[in-house]
Amino acid sequence: MIHVENLTKYYDHFCAVDQISFDISKGEVVGLLGPNGAGKTTTLKMLTGFFQPSAGQIRIKDLSIDDHPLEIKQMIGYLPESSPFYKGMLVYDYLEYVSRIRGVSDSDRHPRLKYLAELCGLKDIMHKAIGELSKGLNQRVGLAHAMMNDPEFLVLDEPTQGLDPNQIVEIRNIIRKIGKEKTILFSTHILSEAEATCDRIIIINKGKIVADGATQELKQSAGKETLIDISLLNAEFAAVEKELSAVAGVSKIKQISRTDDGILTVKASCRSETDLREPIYQKIKAAPWVLMEFRQETRTLENIFRDLTRHVSKEN
Ligand code: ATP
Repeated sequence: MIHVENLTKYYDHFCAVDQISFDISKGEVVGLLGPNGAGKTTTLKMLTGFFQPSAGQIRIKDLSIDDHPLEIKQMIGYLPESSPFYKGMLVYDYLEYVSRIRGVSDSDRHPRLKYLAELCGLKDIMHKAIGELSKGLNQRVGLAHAMMNDPEFLVLDEPTQGLDPNQIVEIRNIIRKIGKEKTILFSTHILSEAEATCDRIIIINKGKIVADGATQELKQSAGKETLIDISLLNAEFAAVEKELSAVAGVSKIKQISRTDDGILTVKASCRSETDLREPIYQKIKAAPWVLMEFRQETRTLENIFRDLTRHVSKEN
């Protein structure tokens, strides 16, 4: 349904989105996950026709966004990062106004507003001023706005940003409900958010896609990998790498640090059905090294995400 190929965006000389490509099938709920500044908003703004790409192609239902911008905008519902509302308007008046500009016919208007009030939990606040609403309620009004013209494809930019835990659950539940019928792409910098809501996760970092896969598959493949941190005294990295790589199932040895007092720390990545701690320990015992620390952790989606993105975002 959605085809993105080599999509690129420069702000002056700065490349914010760097030749990304992906396809999204009808009915998928996809999370675009990445730290702050990764290029998520820029990508969504190009997909919704707000920004002109510097290069690359976007096709939605076989229509190119260059040749059919209006048709494509009609197929898309968009919840931007901060929704520009008219604060003084009542929720009902605002949504009625949106229904007119989105071309909902007179006969469909009332049933549509009723349906959206039900779907987004707005029934009790239809006659409140938008400026009086909490951030969570504002987001629900934004979702109703995005859903007004019954779009096939919904693009949501950080829909739970700044919400409290209860409001996050409410918005997630609405997205899940909508996701049963629509194709959704939404951005977030919170992994648990993407895990809880999406069929598939695309991880973006510094404008490039660094991972793309079904949420379950990413989780399963993460779980199959074990990491062992080993700290050694009197050891050179090249010798440690040579010896430990010889253990069947060890896929990689990476140097983590070397302290001033000569302690070398390496990380061994293991992909094996059996526990490799014993054969690794035997190798260390046979070498002239002093074992200072030995710690195993199971790889999770969380540490994959951190590994893929941490060099740009210290707070993530
Ligand atoms: P966040 O989660 O913080 O919103 P993001 O992943 O959505 O981040 P973008 O907003 O797409 O990231 O920004 C990507 C990069 O492009 C950042 O380095 C940002 O500073 C830069 N950038 C975004 N908009 C502009 C602009 N209008 N002019 C210049 N640089 C910009």
